[in-house]
Amino acid sequence: MEAQYRAAMNHALQTGAEILDRGGSSLDAVQAVISGMEDDPLFNAGRGAVFGADGKNHLDASIMDGATRAAGAVADVTHTRHPIQLARAVMERSPHVMLAGEGAEAFGATQNIEQVPPSYFFTERRWQQLEQELRARNLPIPPRPAGAPPAPQGQLTFPDDHKFGTVGVVAMDERGNIAAGTSTGGTTAKLWGRVGDSPIIGAGTYAQNGVCGVSATGTGEYFIRVGVARDICARMEFAHETAAQAADHVFDELDAMHGDGGVIVMDGHGHAVWRFNTSGMYRARLEQGGQPVVQIFNDE
Ligand code: ASP
Repeated sequence: MEAQYRAAMNHALQTGAEILDRGGSSLDAVQAVISGMEDDPLFNAGRGAVFGADGKNHLDASIMDGATRAAGAVADVTHTRHPIQLARAVMERSPHVMLAGEGAEAFGATQNIEQVPPSYFFTERRWQQLEQELRARNLPIPPRPAGAPPAPQGQLTFPDDHKFGTVGVVAMDERGNIAAGTSTGGTTAKLWGRVGDSPIIGAGTYAQNGVCGVSATGTGEYFIRVGVARDICARMEFAHETAAQAADHVFDELDAMHGDGGVIVMDGHGHAVWRFNTSGMYRARLEQGGQPVVQIFNDE
């Protein structure tokens, strides 16, 4: 699986680089890279998303344009193949910033955003993780979703790797415009319409030209309360901290609350850093000369 993750991240870098190299916008790069990862069952976004306690995939996503600070987000969508594309449509083609649930998908249908049956998002790995989590919490296990493949014979084990698989991208284009986006299935066995930080502008995603771009992953309950993405940007804007210093300070707060996760941060000049307090984070960046850096574990 490690090799598959590294290949997927190299592919993501290439997708983004191709768009930026031909003069495309950072928003287009963010959308294209995230859409690709939403299609990849390795990641907790789109196909391969984790399951809620009700046995369904509830998807959240957001995107922000650092040039104008326009933003779009969707929460709790269940039929949208690419939630990041719906978030972008909310930003560009609706008067609102965030749409949730059925209304978000009704809007998507008017905008030709592709809808799929919920079983499209099913993966055995995430289903087994759900069953494990529900058993550990003494909660009932829902029936397998309609349209999912039959349960495999025998015991299957997947690595419970303690690394989050939410996808996030920050990019700067040749005009200096920064964009950031995040897409997720949330947390395994989430309850009652729970929404995490990923679709919340200022918590999971933020972008402001000349200052920063941020995308976060982790247990959203902490990231919302710390206001992670906006706090990092505010430290950079008002306290003139570097991206690394700002991320360190915000992680001091998260550590004190025992909040786990990670961030990718780009500063106003396009330098990218990351910070996480888990055993690893699937992460990649293109250096300004174009060399790819792909890492997983925290000792790399
Ligand atoms: N931040 C996401 C959430 O809380 C989950 C994750 O990043 O894995 O919904």
